[in-house]
Amino acid sequence: MEEVLKDGSEGKRLHKEMLEQLYKEEENPELFLLRLKNKDGSFKKMIGMKFGRLTVLEDSGKRTPHGRIIWLCLCCCADANLKEAHTKSLKSGDTKSCGCLNRERMIEFGQKRRIHGDSETRLYRTYFNMKDRCYRKKSKRYKNYGARGITICPSWLNDYLTFKAWALRNGYQDNLTIDRRDNNGNYSPKNCQWLTKSENSEKARRNRKLLREIKV
Ligand SMILES: [Zn+2]
Repeated sequence: MEEVLKDGSEGKRLHKEMLEQLYKEEENPELFLLRLKNKDGSFKKMIGMKFGRLTVLEDSGKRTPHGRIIWLCLCCCADANLKEAHTKSLKSGDTKSCGCLNRERMIEFGQKRRIHGDSETRLYRTYFNMKDRCYRKKSKRYKNYGARGITICPSWLNDYLTFKAWALRNGYQDNLTIDRRDNNGNYSPKNCQWLTKSENSEKARRNRKLLREIKV
């Protein structure tokens, strides 16, 4: 069955075997044969062909508004659902399963997003914003970070979970903001700590004051 799509003798042999099998299982062979055959008596080419997970079983008797044959197909997934599809959607690959492929993809996608499960949390936003201001040139805050050569240490940059582990070990709370001890240093475990917003702005104020005094 897997090979039916292949051109050549093997495909044709399997096609024939499958039709014979279907024929044997059919309760009304006369009617069945009518659905399997073209007017000239030849077998309809599509029957037995595989498209993704679907195997074309028979002409459903239905037609699209454009008159295309709608085929009854069997999906090889665990549910073995039947699916109706017309030739063009099968051949183009638009229809490849009873719907199980899409369902599986959605689940897989969901799991990928859930690997750290934090994409909506405040800590993840902190991480995302840190990357944004250090590496995305179009970021509004890039001039104060990336442009000044502020980078993120590789272990954090390449792995959110490493950053998260450090954050939790070092007292991260949802009311705290990340602070670089040395304002010219990078984002790294050594140079970073969690401060409240007011501590952070107090520090910024002191820094500005210091800077003014140096300039004077
Ligand atoms: Zn299926």
